Amino acid sequence: MKLARTRGGVHPEYHKKPTSALPVESLPLPQMLYLPLQQHVGTTAVPVVKVGEYVRKGQMIASAEGHLSAHIHAPTSGKIKFIADFTAPHPSGLPTLTIQLEPDGLDIADDELPDRDPFALSSREISSIVSEAGIVGMGGAAFPSAVKLDQGSKGQIHTLIINGSECEPYLTCDDRLMQEHADGIVDGARIMMHALNAPCARIAIEGNKPEAIATMKAAASSWDNIAVVPMPVCYPMGSAKQMIQFITGKEVPAGGRSAELGVLVHNVATTFAVHQALRTGRPLISRLVTVGGGAIRSPRNFHVLLGTLVSDLIESSGGLKESPARLLSGGPMMGQIMPHAHVPIVKNTSGIIALIGSELQKDDTRPCIRCGRCVSVCPAGLLPLQMAARIRVDDVDGAAKIGLTDCISCGSCSYVCPSNIPLVHYFTFAKGELSSRREQQRQNDHIRGLTESRSKRLAEQKRAKAEELAKKKARSNNSKETVN
Ligand code: SF4
Ligand code: SF4
Repeated sequence: MKLARTRGGVHPEYHKKPTSALPVESLPLPQMLYLPLQQHVGTTAVPVVKVGEYVRKGQMIASAEGHLSAHIHAPTSGKIKFIADFTAPHPSGLPTLTIQLEPDGLDIADDELPDRDPFALSSREISSIVSEAGIVGMGGAAFPSAVKLDQGSKGQIHTLIINGSECEPYLTCDDRLMQEHADGIVDGARIMMHALNAPCARIAIEGNKPEAIATMKAAASSWDNIAVVPMPVCYPMGSAKQMIQFITGKEVPAGGRSAELGVLVHNVATTFAVHQALRTGRPLISRLVTVGGGAIRSPRNFHVLLGTLVSDLIESSGGLKESPARLLSGGPMMGQIMPHAHVPIVKNTSGIIALIGSELQKDDTRPCIRCGRCVSVCPAGLLPLQMAARIRVDDVDGAAKIGLTDCISCGSCSYVCPSNIPLVHYFTFAKGELSSRREQQRQNDHIRGLTESRSKRLAEQKRAKAEELAKKKARSNNSKETVN
């Protein structure tokens, strides 16, 4: 296989040990689970249970509603305590509607083992089971996986890429998943290849995970059309665009989709969730989470029920050695700052990283010295210094013209900037601005459409009324003439 070079990238301290070598542990059942109705990119799910209702493990408790939404299921059996606002696992710290489930400790399941052969199912049947299981991209994107499978099955997917690169520092949950569940991941990949009618799959793993590479190679050895591809150790090699370029030599065009190139990328944890849904009927109710960072006493990976509080997880990791300078969901390059530890684990929480001051980048921002380092590391080939300069003077459109929407928010530019300019923060803010403008435009178009159809309807009613009046008048004139 000929592999291509990719542009940019940085080499941060990876801090993957010791968690990559420790077996995954299970958490004791929490006293309460908090399940936000918004755990995916699209519209908020709608509760289908009432307060006081008893639910079984795996039972749907909120239903997908509208664009890119996803179902939510009970992670264990118990009683619905509240459906109320609770702090979202988001930097804003704003409340979001959340189902609170009090476990009864019995873990009574809703599902029976399905009697089916996934390879006898059609693409539509497989994507419907994936959708029913509430599976979303677990590598961070939280994009509904069934929608991605549907998009792929429309085009000609020649390569399915399973992303096990896990290039973010500290995170090792995908590494442990590959070491402990390689057969399930390969089975999930084969099921998705069948659904997509894709002739081959590539499992991409960064070279700093030799054990995972060996285990996955052994699990895939029976299938000629599945190969493990060791990737260069370079952040952000785990981004879909970098990975596609490295493996296929093709670059996803600006604003384009990988499916247009015949390639689809799914994370390893998502692939394992597909295997579980198809083989055991189990929806997405738990995941592996890395707990790490200098403030954590005993960093490790846990198998965690969705809805578990971050504070419960930290406690099970031996607690804090010192108060963290920053608490992150995800890794330090692309992760989100958590307002506090009283927030739940959701479908795309790959890690809880509690960093101490010495692990953080300095925040003494100085003027740009035009060294160009941000340009040379940008994997998207952008001009971060120029985009930031435009955003600083409120010229978001100007930044968009030179590629803002192609920025993958990897943070490489901020990482190398000798002036400690928080470039990626500018880009995140400006992309938020662009997307709220687009949403405003969508709403304006919707209202304009409604107004136009109302005017049309009124004009039509007026015309029909006039026609009816004219007919009535004609009928009355006719009957007068008959009498005369
Ligand atoms: S955050 Fe955006 S601009 Fe900065 S290096 Fe990454 S892709 Fe390039
Ligand atoms: S890396 Fe920082 S100092 Fe250097 S050109 Fe970019 S923004 Fe300016």
